[in-house]
Amino acid sequence: MASPKKSRMTPQRRVILEEIEKAKSHPAADEVYELVRRRMPKISLGTVYRNLEILTECGLVRKVDLGDGHWRFDGNVENHYHVRCTCCGRITDLYADPVCDLEDWIGKQTGYEILGHRLDFFGLCPVCRRVRETEERSARIGRGPTRVTTTEEYDEGGREGGKS
Ligand SMILES: [Zn+2]
Ligand SMILES: [Zn+2]
Repeated sequence: MASPKKSRMTPQRRVILEEIEKAKSHPAADEVYELVRRRMPKISLGTVYRNLEILTECGLVRKVDLGDGHWRFDGNVENHYHVRCTCCGRITDLYADPVCDLEDWIGKQTGYEILGHRLDFFGLCPVCRRVRETEERSARIGRGPTRVTTTEEYDEGGREGGKS
């Protein structure tokens, strides 16, 4: 795992790493760039990209694809899973026992030597759940959106009924 590159920690690289570790939000490359630019206004996007690749190769950050179309960078290189909110995009680290038994089983089933696996979860985060529950409650009380649709449909059908 130890790489000779690890010792050549340039100031830019250190700042990039610090920002990723601090963010905890699993930022995408352009988000990392925005964070780093606050501290190093002259840094270029290309430099950030290049250093992200190097940090990933060195195993100091983890590059994760959580199915939202961006590579994201994780300063937490411990083995963990992720759960992503499909509503606001928030990503939360999740510590669960790695499913090693499953890898063994799949190896036996397929004859593959299983080297690793990816397992991501998605759902609604606590904040979005609360928002949804509030919306549902007000919809139940006010019958807001439902009423609008019904009225429109009613008007459509009832037009020839002589609404002058
Ligand atoms: Zn959310
Ligand atoms: Zn993570």
